[in-house]
Formats: sequence, C-alpha cells, structure tokens
Amino acid sequence: MKPTDKAGMKYTNQRVEILAFLREHDGHPTVDEVYDGVRQKLTRISKATVYKNLKFLTEKGLLEEVNVKGVSRFEANFIPHHHLICRECGSMEDFNSEQLLDYSMKIAEEIEGFTIVSTSTNFYGICKKCKESKKSEEPKKSGESEDEI
Ligand SMILES: [Zn+2]
Ligand SMILES: [Zn+2]
Repeated sequence: MKPTDKAGMKYTNQRVEILAFLREHDGHPTVDEVYDGVRQKLTRISKATVYKNLKFLTEKGLLEEVNVKGVSRFEANFIPHHHLICRECGSMEDFNSEQLLDYSMKIAEEIEGFTIVSTSTNFYGICKKCKESKKSEEPKKSGESEDEI
C-alpha cells in the first residue's frame, strides 16, 4: 500500500467514526461533544480535525449543521422534522409532527416563485431539565402574610 493510500484511509476512518457517532447520538451534538465521543476510539484525533471533518461532511450533504444560540450543532437525521430548542441551555430535541409537516408544505405550495423542498419549524422554550432546576433554585416563599402593607 502506498503511503498516500494509507493517509486516505485514515481520513476516511475519521469520517466514518464521526458519522457513526452522529447517527448514534441524535441529540444534535456540538463540536466539543463529537470530539469527546470520537476520541474514545480515535485517541489521537484533534479537535481541529473533528471540526474540519464535520464541515466537510456538512458540505458533502451527509450532515446538517444547525446553529443554536451561536453554537454549531450537527445531526445526521435527514428525515424532515421539527426542533424544540431550549432558550436557557441551548439544548435541541427532535420533534415529529406529520400534521405540521403536511400543513407547512401545503402553505409552501402557495408561495410563488420559490420551490420548496423541505420544511422545519423551531419551537423555542424552556426544557424539562432547566424548568426543574429553576424550580429547585427558587426559594420557597414560606407563609406569605396577607397583612403586608
Ligand atoms: Zn434547557
Ligand atoms: Zn434534529
């Protein structure tokens, strides 16, 4: 095997591992999370390499990059779906609704001069985790007196 082939194999392997990680982790991991994940197998991979490969795979149409609160997240799920985005922690969850997809596409058909191929709706709010941690942070108002002036 020529050295160039070897190098080529190495890059392919990195991309395969990155893709595999994203297919297993559908929570839209960030570059850091992908790096932490693939480092378990590719111990010598650098974060810059992970980033470069993520960009490459996105350009090739094998990944989708989504930006939440200025942070790039990646996913390998190309089935049209919607997202629930937490305004507090920036987490992102898939949300599936056939009804919403159908409805969006129906509206899209009426848009003139623009051909729609897919649709995705983002719902912004507060996730369960953040809601629960907020609740426990809030000091319990003990015995609010009604005779306060
Ligand atoms: Zn949250
Ligand atoms: Zn998604």
